[in-house]
Amino acid sequence: MKQKTLVMKFGGTSVGSADALKSATQIIRDAQKDWSRIVVVTSAMAGVTNLLLDSANHPTDAHDAESKLREKHFSAAEALIKNQSLLEETKKEINALIEIFVNLCNAIQVLGEASPRALDAVASLGERMSLRLLTAVIIEAGIKAKGIESTEFIVTNSNFQNAHPDFLTTKEKTQALLNPLLDEGNIVITTGFIGANAEGTVTTLGRGGSDYSAAIIGSVLPANEVWIWTDVDGVMTTDPRIVSSAKTLSEISYGEIAELAYYGAKVLHPKTIRPVVDAGIGLRICNTFNPTHAGTRLTANGKKNGHVIKAVTAIQKQRLVTIEGRGMLGVPGVAARAFGAVASTKTSVPLITQASSEQSICFAVPSETADNVLNALEKTFALEIEEDDIDRVWSTDDVSIVTVVGAGMRHTPGVAGKVFSQLGNNGVNVLAIAQGSSEVSISLVVDAKDTEHAVRTLHELIVS
Ligand code: ADP
Ligand code: ASP
Ligand code: MG
Repeated sequence: MKQKTLVMKFGGTSVGSADALKSATQIIRDAQKDWSRIVVVTSAMAGVTNLLLDSANHPTDAHDAESKLREKHFSAAEALIKNQSLLEETKKEINALIEIFVNLCNAIQVLGEASPRALDAVASLGERMSLRLLTAVIIEAGIKAKGIESTEFIVTNSNFQNAHPDFLTTKEKTQALLNPLLDEGNIVITTGFIGANAEGTVTTLGRGGSDYSAAIIGSVLPANEVWIWTDVDGVMTTDPRIVSSAKTLSEISYGEIAELAYYGAKVLHPKTIRPVVDAGIGLRICNTFNPTHAGTRLTANGKKNGHVIKAVTAIQKQRLVTIEGRGMLGVPGVAARAFGAVASTKTSVPLITQASSEQSICFAVPSETADNVLNALEKTFALEIEEDDIDRVWSTDDVSIVTVVGAGMRHTPGVAGKVFSQLGNNGVNVLAIAQGSSEVSISLVVDAKDTEHAVRTLHELIVS
């Protein structure tokens, strides 16, 4: 008996070349043996979203980008699609999207700036192009398939560049549009990363958001499983680009993956987890280039592998912001006002460390937001600064947050001690620390230059 509904998402590398598209096609064909309804979510081809956004920010370079986009999509199409009319039609559709790109860049150049809304219009083109390409490749391979843009059924608010889906409307639209196609035996292929607001204007769910798209679609259909196809063998003990000996974790718990994803492990977008866990859907992360490897499964408790620390991760390009002054002790509501000021800049704070004396508050923010945050804080505390209750509000140079994750830490005394001695013995200076309230993680702030060394050093605690 076949299982019912599967959502599979292919990341940028997994659709990034003719060879990758061939593997993806074979994976879809194989899945048809075991699943009666399959939805495929595609990312933009690797590098395309960056190229699009770079051009929107430097529209004078758009001409170069235009040829690169054409060459990337057309060469894959020409390598895989032998049916001439299908090939011509696909190239025509992709070309029309490239023309929209050129027009948008021209408009941005004339205006002299790109609004978040315009940036989403540009960024969405990557997935819209890869949808045309992948659908044609699948049809060429003799698989019954229909391509449909997720702007048709993922309805979001208008928070461009980080839009939030309206799950109720999305559910209605997704079921109404996708069920008939699935019931007719089509593989449904759709775009990751993008949606549309109630007026139909395209929005994006945030960088890396195609994983989230798969989770949204999986949760509203609903699917039995969501599989994320990427370019590594699942969730590993650390980023294999930093430590080549990193090992795959065959199982990971919800709590562990949430911390890992939030603290920088790019392998899964942090928003992916909640919809699938809430809907009781199985989530698996696997490798398009090594499809027989079982990859990683998300489970309620994760597998104990004998290590208290299971994985290490890092987020770079952060700054520590400090508000300090001896007079703060008596100032009412300092923390509330400080974080209110930060929130007004729409910055999220990944880490807060609190000094018990109430003489300073210190937290991390992404480097590119630091100046805005400092301005907002200086405005909010103008009076206290003038009266010397607050001595200064300042930020460090770039730092990184390195996080060790493992549910076993909750029951094991002395993990923090081990982590600190490991770093100390290896010459890494720790600037700040925070422990996740769930006790599944400990985060340490280190100087930017120490990031990789800190990750490698802490990874030794797992393998030893
Ligand atoms: P995709 O385009 O398929 O979404 P991403 O580049 O977004 O792929 O994410 C996969 C990458 O995540 C891997 O190539 C790897 O370098 C990186 N990564 C970071 N941390 C981890 C980790 N703990 N386990 C696996 N991969 C990781
Ligand atoms: N293409 C988008 C990005 O690069 C979304 C994704 O790949 O998940 O951010
Ligand atoms: Mg990704």
